[in-house]
Amino acid sequence: MNNPPRVTVWNEYLHEKQNEDIALIYPQGMHAAIAAHLQQAGFPTRTATLEEPQHGLNENTLRETDVLLWWGHLAHEQVSDDVVERVYQRVVRDGMGLIVLHSAHFSRIFIRLMGTTCNLKWREAAEQEKIWTVAPGHPITRGLPECIQLEQTEMYGEHFDIPAPDQLVFISSFAGGEVFRSGCCFYRGRGKIFYFRPGHETYPIYHNPQVLQVIAN
Ligand code: ZN
Repeated sequence: MNNPPRVTVWNEYLHEKQNEDIALIYPQGMHAAIAAHLQQAGFPTRTATLEEPQHGLNENTLRETDVLLWWGHLAHEQVSDDVVERVYQRVVRDGMGLIVLHSAHFSRIFIRLMGTTCNLKWREAAEQEKIWTVAPGHPITRGLPECIQLEQTEMYGEHFDIPAPDQLVFISSFAGGEVFRSGCCFYRGRGKIFYFRPGHETYPIYHNPQVLQVIAN
């Protein structure tokens, strides 16, 4: 790649420090697992976490970030107004890409960008998920089969209260019968946003090569 996008992987990084089973899956945190893959794929990649000053997202870091990944679950409300505003402006004004992962559907930055509740249904029952490609020409699907199958996942179901995506890339079906819009692209100002569903902390989802391929794409 010529001038590959510079990536920052943000994680609230709490589950991995509070729960031994999750720490076994992600000894250095989910952000480290994802960042290692992206670095290997050729993207200059750094990480940032909630506990760092300004959550690791000061002006300089964001200025040097072309794509920001966001994973959060327990501590959405602990993310400061300043950081939410800074990330928001960097997306809509400067065109930074934002990849919103799994439970970050409830992150302050995603809700701000969507303007809806971002509510959804969920069930934790270690059930099978099939992630179907519905936009086979989209670059996010490059090199992937038409269906990615995960044997054990948390279910997310419709209705997912988001605005209609500018492009829908993946739809998931679950063993329990629900469906979910799992891969959604949005334009906001100059920025591009991708919501990608897989990633519950108690399953090794971010070690799955096809999930990592989607994120890299
Ligand atoms: Zn989850």
